[in-house]
Amino acid sequence: NGLAQLRELRVDGAPAELPGYERRLRKRICHIGVGAFHRAHQAWYLHRLLQQGEGEGWGLCGIGLRAADRATLDALGEQDGLYSLWEIDESGRRVTVVGSIMDQLDASSDCSAAIARLADADTHIVSLTVTEAGYCLNGETLDVHHPDVVHDLADPAQPRSAPGLLVAALAQRRANGLPPFTAMSCDNLVKNGERLRSAVLAFARLVDPALAQWIESRGCFPCSMVDRITPAMDAARRERLCEDWGVDDRVPVICEPWQQWIIEDHFVCGRPAFERVGVVFSDDVTRYEDMKVGLLNGGHSAISHLGLLLGYESVHEALADPVIRAWHAGYMREVSATLSPLPDVDYAEYERALTRRFSNAAIQDRLLRLAMDSSTKFPQVLLPPVLRRLDAGLSVDFLATAIALWLVYLDGLGRDDKARSAYVDHDVAGLIALASAAVAEQQPGPFLAARLPITDARAARFEASVSRQLASLRDAGARAHVERLLAPS
Ligand code: NAD
Repeated sequence: NGLAQLRELRVDGAPAELPGYERRLRKRICHIGVGAFHRAHQAWYLHRLLQQGEGEGWGLCGIGLRAADRATLDALGEQDGLYSLWEIDESGRRVTVVGSIMDQLDASSDCSAAIARLADADTHIVSLTVTEAGYCLNGETLDVHHPDVVHDLADPAQPRSAPGLLVAALAQRRANGLPPFTAMSCDNLVKNGERLRSAVLAFARLVDPALAQWIESRGCFPCSMVDRITPAMDAARRERLCEDWGVDDRVPVICEPWQQWIIEDHFVCGRPAFERVGVVFSDDVTRYEDMKVGLLNGGHSAISHLGLLLGYESVHEALADPVIRAWHAGYMREVSATLSPLPDVDYAEYERALTRRFSNAAIQDRLLRLAMDSSTKFPQVLLPPVLRRLDAGLSVDFLATAIALWLVYLDGLGRDDKARSAYVDHDVAGLIALASAAVAEQQPGPFLAARLPITDARAARFEASVSRQLASLRDAGARAHVERLLAPS
């Protein structure tokens, strides 16, 4: 059966690394959202620490808030919490059977068990990867009209949302005379700890202001920067993996070898010694985040629309095109120049590493996945470097071209029913209408005001730059425009 096969898994003639530690929960990290990324990142870091004999009794309990998680949790249960993690690049693969998830709970069918687990004295940390949508935010604070929030406020004992679940558990801890747990977001959200804190406090204030005050004064919500490219696992890929290696793992994960985790060292009741496995604890998470969001996420967004316009489907194919590679390098240079220095980072080396990572054919990341939700991504990844460059009187040609490429791509979607129906963003029809008007009239102003607003005098300068790039794109086409931009002046 699957469990026995996992324990005997051999890859390239060598046995996979198996957990060599006691798999009994004592000090708990409860993790909400046991998706692919959690299993490639936080669970893997804890596994490494336990493997070194330095985990000091820590273990993970995975919690799913959505019915869609049930299949993963059931499979993990049947496999005794074990799963195989495949770190792959051109040089080969390293396979680890990860054992740090020691228990799992489905909160969508039994939220009182999940609340009791979070409220238990043994739970020290509650971490989350529930996607940006899981925080139920509107801007920087709680969206009180979000259907899950409306539901949870009406029935706080049966929460469906992450903020609702955390507040129900914190209320129980307070009633039981326990301290709050540390709540640690590991999602790709700028200032993720602050956003989580803001959502939890706003929810608590609506339920019980005294509870909100207790959380505000005693709770900890460290910010973190997380990084490891982990593509979604589809059925065909899983079957291929299982067939090739003779293993029946129902929940394997593929990821790149690279990983990074920077965390603010604010933990209310202790934490594992993650620094012993390469995690950096820093008061400067924001600067690391600026680097990662600006260069990795911004680079992804910059490549996606050009790659799609030039007919590519996956990231590594696009990067093999010399024009896209040079465009990506130029984009990163424009962003890097706006970043403040970090003691342990050489930005030129970080850029080269990103190019290598994006060129990893084993990851099979789709350009379309990166292009989607640009309305949410661009204000976070692109506006900060734009504003910093405008302040410094520097040109924003590459950043403005990234916007112009997005406009031209959206305009094309308007004429392609099939591609449009597969595209996910907030109000796709409205977005395409605005983009098409901007391209037809060569006036990006209304689009920028609606989707990428700059509310001061810098708006006019940025609009003028986007206008120029858009005109050149229309005259020359995407490839020739980018070549023109890259040509030495
Ligand atoms: P996934 O689809 O495998 O898992 C997503 C998890 O979030 C699931 O458990 C799902 O049930 C849960 N979820 C989704 N919406 C929710 C909601 N509204 N309320 C509660 N739970 C919800 O995706 P993944 O690859 O694990 O990525 C999850 C998040 O991790 C990303 O959104 C991102 O913030 C972060 N991340 C991912 C990567 C990556 O390469 N995959 C890299 C860095 C950070």
